[in-house]
Formats: sequence, C-alpha cells, structure tokens
Amino acid sequence: MMEPEVITLARQLIQKPSFTPDDAGCITSLMNRMSGQGFKGHHHRFGMVDNVLIWHGNKPGPSLLFLGHTDVVPTGDPDSWDHPPLSGHVENGVLYGRGVADMKGAVAAMVLAMEKFVGQNASHKGKVALMLTSDEEGEAKDGIQKFMPLIAQQHHFDFCLVGEPSSSQVVGDTVRVGRRGSLHMTVKVLGKQGHVAYPQHADNPVFSAALAVEALGKHQWDQGNADFPPTSFQISNVSAGTGAANVIPGSITYQGNFRYSPESSQPSLEKQVKTILDGFGLSYELTWQLSGEPFYCQNKHFRHELTEAIVAATNIEPIFNTAGGTSDGRFVAPYGIATMELGLVNKTIHRVNECQEVKNLLTLEGIYLDLISRLLK
Ligand SMILES: [Zn+2]
Repeated sequence: MMEPEVITLARQLIQKPSFTPDDAGCITSLMNRMSGQGFKGHHHRFGMVDNVLIWHGNKPGPSLLFLGHTDVVPTGDPDSWDHPPLSGHVENGVLYGRGVADMKGAVAAMVLAMEKFVGQNASHKGKVALMLTSDEEGEAKDGIQKFMPLIAQQHHFDFCLVGEPSSSQVVGDTVRVGRRGSLHMTVKVLGKQGHVAYPQHADNPVFSAALAVEALGKHQWDQGNADFPPTSFQISNVSAGTGAANVIPGSITYQGNFRYSPESSQPSLEKQVKTILDGFGLSYELTWQLSGEPFYCQNKHFRHELTEAIVAATNIEPIFNTAGGTSDGRFVAPYGIATMELGLVNKTIHRVNECQEVKNLLTLEGIYLDLISRLLK
C-alpha cells in the first residue's frame, strides 16, 4: 500500500532537527513546496527565529488562518527511545518521532488540507492561510508575538484554528475554545528586623503576612463561566530570613501566579489583592508581570462548523474546554479573530517515544479540509 502523503510530509519535518528556536529549514521547505501550487509566502526572521505566512486567495469572503509551530523540545537521551527520535519510523500503524504530536503531524495535516482544497477550488472566495513560527516551545518572544502585528497590517482574518494537540483519547474529542490568562505577582511584606530576644523592638512580617496570605488562598476571584473554571491563585515561592537563628526578618517575599478566566483582568485582580492586603494593615510592595491574557471564542458559526466537521469525520461530539497552559493563540485572538484549537492526541507530547497513530493524521487532515470547505466555499 502506498504511504499517505501526510505521513511522508510529517516524516520529512520530523527528520529536520528543529530544536527550539532553530527551524532547521522546515519553513523554507514548506514555502517552496506550496509556492509551486499557487500559494504566496511571507518569510520573516527575528533574531534566531523563523516565521512565515503562506496563503491563498484574494477575493472577498471569509478568511481562515491555521496556526502552528515547527520547533520541538529536546529528545533527552536518544538511547531511551525505541526508535531513533528523528527517524519518523512507522511500526504497527504508529508514527514515532519528536514533534509528531506537538505538532509537526498537525502542520503536515494543515498543509495537505490546504493544498487539496486549493487544488479543487482554485477560485474559492476569501482566504486560507498558514502561519508558522520556530519559537513556541521556547521563550516565544521572537515568534507570533512579533510576527502577528506585522501580518495584521496587510491581512485580515475572521477565524483562526491552532493545531496544538488538544485531543485526549481520539482525534476530535476535545476542542479548546480559549485559554486562561497567566499573571505573576510578587509581594514583599515589610516589617522591622530585630533580635529574637527583643521582639518589642522589632516587627515580624512573617506573622502579619501569614493571615493575609491565607486570605488570598481562600479568596474567590470570580465564578468562571460556562467554558472557564473560576480563576485560581497559587503561591510558588516564599523567602524570608537572614539565615541566622536569632534574627527576626525585616521582610518576607511571596511569589504567586494567577490562572485567570475572562471574567477577571489584571486590573480587577490587582484591586482585589490590594483590598485584602490593606485589610490586614500591612505595609508591602507589589510587582506584577503579565505572561498572557486569556482568550475566548464565542463565535457560534465557527464553533458549529468545526463541530460538524468533527462529527462528520469521527462520529464524536467534541467537548469544548479551556484546559492547559497558554498557547500562541493568545497573540492572534486580540486582533478580533475567533480562535480555537484542535490537534492530535496529546498523551505522549514532550515524552520519550512521542508517537501518533497514522490514522489520526488522516482523520485530522480530513477535519481540516472539511472545515476549510465549510467556511470558504
Ligand atoms: Zn505545541
């Protein structure tokens, strides 16, 4: 039996050692391949990072953007893999290799779906495009965060589908309709240093901060909504003390992180934190660092068409959720683009023996192709 093209292409990508942020030629090879089929490309390098937009269509009408990345995480010790991690070896209907699930397999499926759609509908309305970066697994500073503002000056998109591995057991069982925001907070509670034998001359901030921190831990920041759990807050680091056993520390510092729903925002969380700290009469210094705003797709048409495409291919009704960490979708959604995520099964991502059933790539390609047709035809 002839090997499906999506498997051959996925293997070609797996065999390129594109450890973040090195693209290792993935983007150029895809651009060359697709420009031969009437697609246009815009390649832009920031520092060490390659970014590209490959698109087809210039007529009025709906526009769909696929979003993905070519970079992968390290393999760890290659000897602990059953097959060489960059081989793209197939055994018993399973394709092995670093990045096959996260997310070179999905990139191959996007490319094949776009090529097939354009091959059969050369004069389609609207636009279909693929945006790739080689800096998603790393710092994500020179990737979509910088590339999207450049692209948004020349291109408009209505819908974005991110190909991150959202599926948990079978392809299509889970669609991410958004992601929570991530906000870091550092609070330094100030006291007065002194000798432990003379507490009347000191003010121990460890005691005064403890009650406030307990209150932060118990506080309900919001109720969440139909698709998002309530905002959560965790303390990740605590430090106080000079190291000496007979000194009352002059300050105590807590680092914490909010994973927040669209029902909250940085200002609303800051305000609540200050109210709690002030309620305990503390003197403190607060610093904030936003690592990603939440996004949330409420576009009914896009949700409906993706659901129909999944049901048609798999007979499964997908679960919509917003689980997991952040993704590059956070850099696209702020442009008013309805953004969701659907990709391969995520069981083996970032692990030794990362793999994916061959049939999953074919199913995903079919869903992507059907979605393009439903939105653009
Ligand atoms: Zn990924």
